[in-house]
Amino acid sequence: MSYRKFFNIDEHLMELAEQTEADVRPDFRHIEDISFQNQQKVLAAFIDNNVGENCFTTSTGYGYGDVGREKLDRVFADAMECEDALLRHNFMCGTHALTVALFGVLRPNDTMLCVTGMPYDTIQSVIGLTTPPASGSLFEFGVRFEKIDLIDGGAVNIDEMRRRLRSDSSVKMVYIQRSRGYSLRPSLTVEQIEEICAAAHEVKPEVIVMVDNCYGEFVQLTEPCCHGADLMAGSLIKNAGGGIAPTGGYIAGRRDLVEMCSYRLSTPGTGREVGCTLGHSRELYMGLFSAPHVVGEALKTAVFCAGLFSRLGYDVTPLPNEPRADIIQSVLLHTPEALIAFCQGIQSGSPVDSMALPEPWDMPGYDNKIIMASGSFTLGSSIELSADAPLREPYAVWMQGGLNYAAGKTGILIAAQRMLNNGLLQ
Ligand SMILES: *Cc1c(COP(=O)(O)O)cnc(C)c1O
Repeated sequence: MSYRKFFNIDEHLMELAEQTEADVRPDFRHIEDISFQNQQKVLAAFIDNNVGENCFTTSTGYGYGDVGREKLDRVFADAMECEDALLRHNFMCGTHALTVALFGVLRPNDTMLCVTGMPYDTIQSVIGLTTPPASGSLFEFGVRFEKIDLIDGGAVNIDEMRRRLRSDSSVKMVYIQRSRGYSLRPSLTVEQIEEICAAAHEVKPEVIVMVDNCYGEFVQLTEPCCHGADLMAGSLIKNAGGGIAPTGGYIAGRRDLVEMCSYRLSTPGTGREVGCTLGHSRELYMGLFSAPHVVGEALKTAVFCAGLFSRLGYDVTPLPNEPRADIIQSVLLHTPEALIAFCQGIQSGSPVDSMALPEPWDMPGYDNKIIMASGSFTLGSSIELSADAPLREPYAVWMQGGLNYAAGKTGILIAAQRMLNNGLLQ
């Protein structure tokens, strides 16, 4: 039986989908190669660390001596090819992991220098950039913040970074956001991150280079810490949780810095010695094990979306065959109606909450109305197929995720079909 009728996808759209898949075959091959190599790296980390069934047992209370928790940190550090890591369900989201890392290593009168322009929305509150500054922000603790805007085209202004590092001795941290967030700039490849790290450490060897690695894990063959970054953090309901972790985040990098972060995650004195796992270890191990494959599926979904919508005449970024450093795909849809139809289509093609109809709404902290589509097993998970957009020029949508390519492709086709049904496909 064919579900052609059930999903009611237009013949011509199906033809375009087939042509798109033929176009992107080399890009899929490339993604499969990266997934294969990253999968081997993760498998080797499990084998090297003798992960056994005893790692999946549960602990309660203080969680002293929880073998599963301790070993998971080692496995993840090896998978990220860095000295040490904390991978926990206790991190409530990516923002929390990044916050723990920032408060873990910065001290009063230090300056955090962001070299990728304005950081991601939720991090702005953490820093204290809102008016008035959020209660409990870094600002309230006397940590200063400066940023260097990206040069046209999205490149980091390395010369300006060198100049600031020379002229301002308070700069303790250079901060890099790898992913584009809700902007149309390109995400940074690990090769570009390496150039920034090398330049920063050349001027000031002791400066801490920290990377917001959200959406970047397992997209390339290596991670920022293999290229000179000292510390990085991310979310487990994005790439590194493989669609299986029900919540959580991670911090990884230099041993001394990760230890400092452990005292902020729990308490000064107890650090990583405490933290019960409540039976979540198995899901975190399984999610990490699946992550290289699931990231590959999400990348294929993004490439298919880019290919299909370019064939339909839309500007997309990145292009189907452009090198990728995260799983995000933007499509410039030009009108609010098209944007809404796309998001509603993604929602209606989701396994969970397909019957919900997303509408633009005034989200606290945003200037424009926002529309979000996410029919995920884990609330807010964006390694699962999801799309969101602020209702403003150029009416671009940011889509990401897809636990498996077949479902991701179907979701994208349903979104295009909804635009077609509403007479909105150009
Ligand atoms: C998602 C994201 C965050 C925050 O993660 P949450 O899990 O939503 O708190 C931070 N930075 C970037 C670039 C992100 O994409």
